[in-house]
Amino acid sequence: MSPKIIKIEPQGFCFGVLRALRMMQDLAISNPPKPCYLVGNLVHNRFVKQFLEHQGFIIEEGLDKEAIIDMINEGTVVFTAHGIDEKIKEKAINKGLNIVDTTCPFVTKSFSMIKEYLAQGYEIIYLGKTTHPETDAALSISPKVHLIESATDIDNLVIDSPKIALTNQTTMSKFDMEMVEKAVIEKYPQTVIMDKVCYATKIRQEVMRKIAGEATESGEKVLFIVVGDTTSNNTHKLWETSKRFSGQDACLVENLDDLPFEALSQYDTIYLTSGTSTPNVIVEEIYRYLLTGNFEPQKSVLSPFDYYR
Ligand code: SF4
Repeated sequence: MSPKIIKIEPQGFCFGVLRALRMMQDLAISNPPKPCYLVGNLVHNRFVKQFLEHQGFIIEEGLDKEAIIDMINEGTVVFTAHGIDEKIKEKAINKGLNIVDTTCPFVTKSFSMIKEYLAQGYEIIYLGKTTHPETDAALSISPKVHLIESATDIDNLVIDSPKIALTNQTTMSKFDMEMVEKAVIEKYPQTVIMDKVCYATKIRQEVMRKIAGEATESGEKVLFIVVGDTTSNNTHKLWETSKRFSGQDACLVENLDDLPFEALSQYDTIYLTSGTSTPNVIVEEIYRYLLTGNFEPQKSVLSPFDYYR
């Protein structure tokens, strides 16, 4: 018998990704100063990147964003949805470049809160992922922002201040953040907690935890398929959540090509979901394939122009 195929909602682009993509479409039709550069990937998805490259945007990758601005002398510069070091943005403005900043409002709000607490004399403990652009931007605000990647990093923190606040990258695991909160309060009881896991990330993780728990109780053999880019933090955290709360099999795939074709027929139920920067059309293609119940290997037939749907 073919497995039951169940799509988990919500999925597809979140508010911040959709907003950033719309800003890019508005830019594309507004005849902006050329060339148009993106400083990093607009969002973490290689198919969205292909779509933007087909529209003529030049994507400059690399960790040193200041060096990227140094080499651009004309045209338009787009900063990504993850946020940017204000000093780098100012440098681009001072060079006379046309600036488009697509930073997600949830990221902007979390940076504003960090600045407010710093102004009141707080030191900030920041749960984030090393070298992620949002974390880089948060750390650029002040040397008083201290990065941790997990609860175990708290042992190595040395902060001598009566005022400490804890916050996080918006796409972290809400469950990791809860563990970190407990560990930080144990070491620094005076800590003020500012949980900034964004709504889009949090709701998907909560739904996934509920379904993962039910899947365990059902006694069925279950597979969770999370669709998204391997560099996308929220996708990765969603995949981790499915494994953590179900104890069942889970795979992270970028598109149809990556499915574990040979294994699919052994499951009673296959759940399908996606990260916040995954085009819906990719999930739909996988969903339609799974519904056929014929699990012969197949390749995606989508083209870059399909991805903004
Ligand atoms: S995942 Fe959250 S913070 Fe990131 S772009 Fe989407 S809404 Fe904004």
